[in-house]
Amino acid sequence: SLTLMWFRSDLRVHDNTALHMAARRGPVVAVFLRSMEQWQQHGHGANKITFWLQGANALGKALAQYNIPLLNRHVPTFEAAPGALLALAETLGATSLYFNREYPWNEWQRDQAVINTFRHAGLDVQSFRDAIAFEPGELVTGKGDFYSVFTPFSRAWHRSIEASRLNMFDAPACQSLASISADPEPELPTLSAHSVATQQWVSGEQEASNHLHHFLSQQVHLYARDRDFPAISGTSLLSPYLSLGMISYRQCMQAAMAMNEGLLAEGNPGLATWVKELIWREFYQHVAFGFPRVCKGRAFQQHTEMLAWRNDPKDFAAWCEGHTGYPIIDAAMRQLRETGWMHNRLRMITAMFLTKHLLTDWRKGEAFFLRHLVDGDFAANNGGWQWAASTGTDAAPYFRIFNPTTQSKRFDPDGQFIGRWLPLLDALPGKQRHAPDPVLRSEVGYPAPLVDHQVARLRALDTFKALS
Ligand code: FAD
Repeated sequence: SLTLMWFRSDLRVHDNTALHMAARRGPVVAVFLRSMEQWQQHGHGANKITFWLQGANALGKALAQYNIPLLNRHVPTFEAAPGALLALAETLGATSLYFNREYPWNEWQRDQAVINTFRHAGLDVQSFRDAIAFEPGELVTGKGDFYSVFTPFSRAWHRSIEASRLNMFDAPACQSLASISADPEPELPTLSAHSVATQQWVSGEQEASNHLHHFLSQQVHLYARDRDFPAISGTSLLSPYLSLGMISYRQCMQAAMAMNEGLLAEGNPGLATWVKELIWREFYQHVAFGFPRVCKGRAFQQHTEMLAWRNDPKDFAAWCEGHTGYPIIDAAMRQLRETGWMHNRLRMITAMFLTKHLLTDWRKGEAFFLRHLVDGDFAANNGGWQWAASTGTDAAPYFRIFNPTTQSKRFDPDGQFIGRWLPLLDALPGKQRHAPDPVLRSEVGYPAPLVDHQVARLRALDTFKALS
């Protein structure tokens, strides 16, 4: 009997749990739902959406090699998914639906509705844990609660990880030619014309695997040293691929272990540090599931809902456009706008600047990032923003406010990153790029700082203190 394999953010053929299980049962037909309206409502912009759709097209080509046809359906919102999938299953004569689980609230609700619809119709439906090593709820504190702090979560993760959670699943065997043919590759929507993703990011499983191998062979040994320096290409750039499942955490961890004598937490510091970042990714997925209020626009730390944000639209616009007068912030915002990606250290610096120095609600920054990021991922983005704003799980204590100039000197010591993204400042000697004096600023036409660090810091401290 025929199984319908529903692809979502798991766009790969290798090591795909649901696909592997479906193919073991018998013939498979694959489906991808293009939910443009829903994705846009969720705040994704042209970069991520284009990357997603290109990934689905790449998947269609990869599946064709196994004689698995990929059908594409326009299903504007999640609400329409159960009906569309059931109608398709009935038309094809499929008796089962298989998919890998997704954990943010809306996705989970959609999937529950699909499960109910299929069961109601007397059809089989199976979902699988695939994106993370532990199902949310499997790792809990002594009191049985979801973890809200990373370090004990990570300890529990390492304590409980066993080989079976890291074993990879074979790609399906090539099936005999299905009588159902794949849909022609859909055109990209018009919004893709405005996407930087099309030029700079090659979508798909093959490219993800290239990135992984390049990173492991060239960069990972220096990762612990280089990962915080945005001028150095020292990180894997795998985030867009991981967030859409063009590569799995198992493939990443197995490849890292193979270079590290089978170890995950110890051994080569570069590899162990990198694995820790992959566990951060899992942590935020557990948080999104365990504390669904974060998926509904609410702060994890509920008392911070009362915070008196300034929300000055001019300040926000200056931040978005990279005109704050703080070179490291402005350079970072240009990197985001022009490439759809921003270095992790800079995500932290820019997010803290917006929420603390400008006292702008983290939700505005979260939305702006999501609109531009090619790796826009609800759980990681929300986690990062609430961390920076001191409203989240394991958040930065509110009184520890990064000084953007000190961060700049420390993590871009030669001003190389600033020079690359702010041509106006490129003519200045590297050391003077962090905080040019007023004369130099006016000579090159670079704006004065939007706020004074010390003044803004005290203002933020007062505002946060008013909460207690
Ligand atoms: P590497 O350093 O090579 O790390 C490997 C992988 O680990 C990443 O690809 C990612 O999947 C995961 N990872 C690394 N750091 C984190 C982290 N702090 N939290 C969760 N996962 C992590 N990451 C996203 O994937 N999507 C987002 O929308 C996103 N928004 C962020 C917003 C803010 C304010 C902050 C502070 C961080 C955000 N991150 C986000 C996390 C992190 O910045 C990116 O994952 C990282 O920069 C991606 O680059 P890389 O693939 O080269 O990472």
